Amino acid sequence: MLNLVLFGPPGAGKGTQSENLINKYNLVHLSTGDIFRANIKGETELGKLAKSYIDKGELVPDEVTISMLESEVSKHESPNGFIFDGFPRTTAQAEALDTFLASKNTAITLMLALEVDDEELKRRLLERGKVSGRSDDQDETIIENRIKEYNSKTAPLKDFYSAQGKFVSIDGIGSIDDIAGRLYTAIDSKK
Ligand code: ADP
Repeated sequence: MLNLVLFGPPGAGKGTQSENLINKYNLVHLSTGDIFRANIKGETELGKLAKSYIDKGELVPDEVTISMLESEVSKHESPNGFIFDGFPRTTAQAEALDTFLASKNTAITLMLALEVDDEELKRRLLERGKVSGRSDDQDETIIENRIKEYNSKTAPLKDFYSAQGKFVSIDGIGSIDDIAGRLYTAIDSKK
């Protein structure tokens, strides 16, 4: 299986690049942000809980996120692999994912980190907020908090995957096609 973690701060282009990768490698796309938003829209219990954190730009608690992710993975019988987009975001999530995948006799192949500077991120998120309707993209305080959460809780995962020899840094500035090309090169040299 080809199991990719697509990593990067809010606004780095994870969703956009996931589209390219699922088509090229025939993977199942699991975006925790998308799953939370679907639950919020459907007004489920999980959605109500997630909303209370997302509206503040905070991470949803690990135990909630991990069990949701595991149940999503288990829905797929024999996939070519997964793209994890927005997960893991904490060390506890990364450890849980390793254990869970090992129990399914598989593992993460590669962690692809899209690197974009904070100014460009803020610009992209505010731009997206104008068209997406996502309330967490329309408020500069929430955006700043998300970037802060990323820097304190999520960025350390680079070391986690580096220690396993699975970390690749990808320049996230440029055209969508250029960035896709960089991702393909990194994946094809590891496969
Ligand atoms: P972003 O554009 O910030 O990358 P996402 O769509 O991936 O946005 O996630 C939106 C929000 O959902 C996050 O700000 C966070 O509150 C919550 N969330 C998404 N994934 C996770 C996760 N793995 N752990 C905890 N919270 C998460």
